[in-house]
Amino acid sequence: MKITQIRVPFPSEYGSGRRTNAYLLEGEIKILVDSGLDSEENRRFIRKTLEKAGAWDLDLILLTHGHLDHFSLGAYLQRETGAALMVHKADSEMLADYSSHYSRLFEETYEHAVEGGFDPGLLGEAKIKLITAASILSSPTVYETFTETRFAGGAVRTIHLPGHTDGSAGVVVDEAVLCGDAAIEGSTAVKDLKEEFNSLEKLKVFNKIYPGHERSPLARADIETLEAHFVSRLEEVLHVTKGGATLKDIVVSLYKGINMDQASYRLILPINQVIAYLKYLEAEGHVEKRGRRWHSFRERLASPVV
Ligand SMILES: [Zn+2]
Ligand SMILES: [Zn+2]
Repeated sequence: MKITQIRVPFPSEYGSGRRTNAYLLEGEIKILVDSGLDSEENRRFIRKTLEKAGAWDLDLILLTHGHLDHFSLGAYLQRETGAALMVHKADSEMLADYSSHYSRLFEETYEHAVEGGFDPGLLGEAKIKLITAASILSSPTVYETFTETRFAGGAVRTIHLPGHTDGSAGVVVDEAVLCGDAAIEGSTAVKDLKEEFNSLEKLKVFNKIYPGHERSPLARADIETLEAHFVSRLEEVLHVTKGGATLKDIVVSLYKGINMDQASYRLILPINQVIAYLKYLEAEGHVEKRGRRWHSFRERLASPVV
C-alpha cells in the first residue's frame, strides 16, 4: 500500500505554524488516517489535495484517537465522500459529545489545580476558552468503532496504543505504523504514562513510525529518545518534590516558558501532564501526597522504567 503524508495546517487562531499529519493509504481501497482541524480553509485544502491525488472517493477514514486536531475535519469528509468514519471503541464516548467530555475532564483538573495552588478565576477562564473551541470545532456525526481490526483484505490492521488517550490506536501497513500522538518527536501529552511506556515498547518493532505531528517518519531511536525524555521529566518531578512541593510548584519548575498568569489551554495541558507524572510516580511508590504537598522518596528512578 502506498502511504502519502498530508500536512494539514492548524487554523491560525489555534496555533500558528502547527500542523496535523494525516496520511492517505492507497491500495485495494483508499483510507485516510486522521483528518485535521475543521475550518473553511481546511475543507478546501483537504478536498483539493485528495482530488489531485485521485482519492476524493475515499472508502474509509480511520482516526488514531479522539482529539480535535485529528477528528474534527472528518465529519466534513464523511458527509462529502460517504466514507465510513471510525475510531477505537475506547475513544468513541468522548466523541459522542466532545464538549461535555472536555467539561468532565476539566472538572478533575480543576480540583487538583485549585488544591495545588492555581488561581480558580484564571482556571475558570481557561475552561471557557477550551470548551468554546471544542464546540466550535466539533460537529455531530456518526462514528463507527473498531478494536483490533483488519481492513483492505488484511493489508491494513489496527493496534491499540493507549496512554495519550485510552483509545489511541496505530494503523499498521507492512513494516510501518501510523501512530497518531502515541509518539511525537520531542514529547507527547500523556493521560496514563504507564500505558504510554507499554505502547512505546510496541512501536519499537516497526521500521517506520509515522506520527500525528512534527517530523515524519520516526525510527526506533526516536522512540528511545522519547522514553528517555519521560524518564528525565519524572526525575525532575522527583527532584522538585524532594523537600515537598505543590502541584503549581512542580508545573512552574517543569514549564519555565509558560505564563502561569494567563488563562489559556497552554496552562491546562502542562497541569494535566504533571498530574499524569504524579499519578505514575505515586503508583510506582516514588512519591506521596501529604496535605497539599507532594514528597519524593528518592531523586532518581531506582530501576529502569520499562
Ligand atoms: Zn492527541
Ligand atoms: Zn494531535
